Amino acid sequence: MCGITGYIGGKNAAKEIYEGLRRLEYRGYDSAGAAFTGGGKLTVIKREGKVEKLLPLLGETVSHVGIGHTRWATHGAPSDINAHPHVAGDIAVVHNGIIENYAKLKAGLVESGVKFLSDTDSEVIAHLINKYYSGDLLAALQKTAGLLEGSYAIMAICAGEDRIAVTCKKSPLIIGYGNGENYCASDEPALAGKCDEITVLEDGDFAELTSTSVNVYNGDFRRIMRGREPNLAVSVDLTMGDYPHYMLKEILEVPQSVVRTGTAFASVEEKLKDAFKDVDRVILTGCGTAYHAALVGKRYFESFLKMPAETETAGEFRYKNPVIGGRTAVLAISQSGETADTVEAARLARERGALVIAVTNSHRSQLVRLADVVVPVAAGPEICVAATKSYTGQIAALYLCAATLAGGELNEGKYRALSHVAALAEKVIKNSDVSTVANMCSRSRGTYFLGRDLDYALALEGSLKLKEVSYVPGEGYPAGELKHGPLALIYNRTVAVFIITDKELAVKCENAVEQVVTRGGKAVVITNVDGIVSKLPKKVKHVIRIPKADKYLSVILAAAVVQLLAYRTATVLNRDPDKPRNLAKSVTVE
Ligand code: GLU
Repeated sequence: MCGITGYIGGKNAAKEIYEGLRRLEYRGYDSAGAAFTGGGKLTVIKREGKVEKLLPLLGETVSHVGIGHTRWATHGAPSDINAHPHVAGDIAVVHNGIIENYAKLKAGLVESGVKFLSDTDSEVIAHLINKYYSGDLLAALQKTAGLLEGSYAIMAICAGEDRIAVTCKKSPLIIGYGNGENYCASDEPALAGKCDEITVLEDGDFAELTSTSVNVYNGDFRRIMRGREPNLAVSVDLTMGDYPHYMLKEILEVPQSVVRTGTAFASVEEKLKDAFKDVDRVILTGCGTAYHAALVGKRYFESFLKMPAETETAGEFRYKNPVIGGRTAVLAISQSGETADTVEAARLARERGALVIAVTNSHRSQLVRLADVVVPVAAGPEICVAATKSYTGQIAALYLCAATLAGGELNEGKYRALSHVAALAEKVIKNSDVSTVANMCSRSRGTYFLGRDLDYALALEGSLKLKEVSYVPGEGYPAGELKHGPLALIYNRTVAVFIITDKELAVKCENAVEQVVTRGGKAVVITNVDGIVSKLPKKVKHVIRIPKADKYLSVILAAAVVQLLAYRTATVLNRDPDKPRNLAKSVTVE
């Protein structure tokens, strides 16, 4: 949520900041802004809307020091005024996170005569730095940070000073090193192609950047050396190529997400087995799509290991005082590894003595830093806000974990099984025609995604995907629960998408299909169960066939279909699937 970036050096900061913001836009896009210093003056440009709106405004700006922000509003509506940077006196500030005690801080400042312009929590930071500033920007930032509660990555500049001061706590921030220039940003992709080396700042760190130096200090304000690491983000991966949307490009990469996750897993196999020796219970946690992957993973652990496995959304887990013993493993699943609720759930699990396993697509993230074992998801950079290939990568990673720990044939055949399903997924993506169903969904008044067991887990994800990118309302439901309530909403404007990949449960789903068509609902079936089509009621509107596959991995094939369906529905309705309204990727706030 929110992307921030800064530049200091010989190039034109306006261009560098604009490019950085374009790459960070998936983190938020309701408004954007930038501030520059030069000639003793501060120039601030900010607007409601996407980053591209800044381009004409940046115009002739020439500066060598700048900071920028692309916003996903938490406090204060998206507007020009609430857009960052926020300014107080000669100070300009960008902030990612939430200042939880902002109201109290604001009240104190207002009482002393300070005038606020915005409704954001972030503006207090600018006023506090301004209040404490007496020639040393970093010292003023340090004093300010001491008063802040919540999460933040902050960059500050001051008119007349050729430096950028930064700090972070529970929000990511990296420094990138150049030749006669230095950068800072929320994440590595923002600096792809700009910096070969980066430093990931830790919670409570401060840093001061000039064009020729970077000095890092810890929370006690002692100067420290944080290691430099290669920047692994490759700029070419971040482009859309010939595709109309990142979402489509990334769905097409579903097969690779599975194969590459398999390759990456080999390096952690032994460590995982070792760490798991005394474990007798598993809790899987995550948010949104990652939580839906957790539901699939739970079934793998239960079925393959016969081990009790529970799931909990991370936002619930962290506040419900969970019962965790030393023999519990908590698998925390997050695409970015920065999802605030998931990171805090993992932290809590760790404090309570659990083995913490991070399942993440990010190799450098808070989650990675606090986990005992990191199980890589190698989906590659995912730019579309709606998760697609990271979901299938997470499923592959969880399958590999459970199969490895189960041992025997499952363990021996796990890589083969995954490459087979990846090859089938290629075919599914190439051959599935979802356009008829997408048209039906686009005209519907509501949608249901229904299934049983693993198909139910996928039904939840199918429904979420459709809602996220097309805004068509709907629910995911266990097929058996239909008659306990939702059937009341079924009529000729409702579409019910059944996912049926488990042949033992197929007959039970057929009943539910019958119940829908009997009430005039439009039933659609996604299936790979032999012989089912002849048994379905004639009134079923559409059947999408997928190839037969391993009972536990068919979910990956059906996932590609529901993702394509969501994508097509969004395009039929002229929505931008890459940047759905009100949403952003990498949810670093609560
Ligand atoms: N809380 C700040 C705002 O609403 C920053 C939001 C964020 O980082 O997502 O402007």
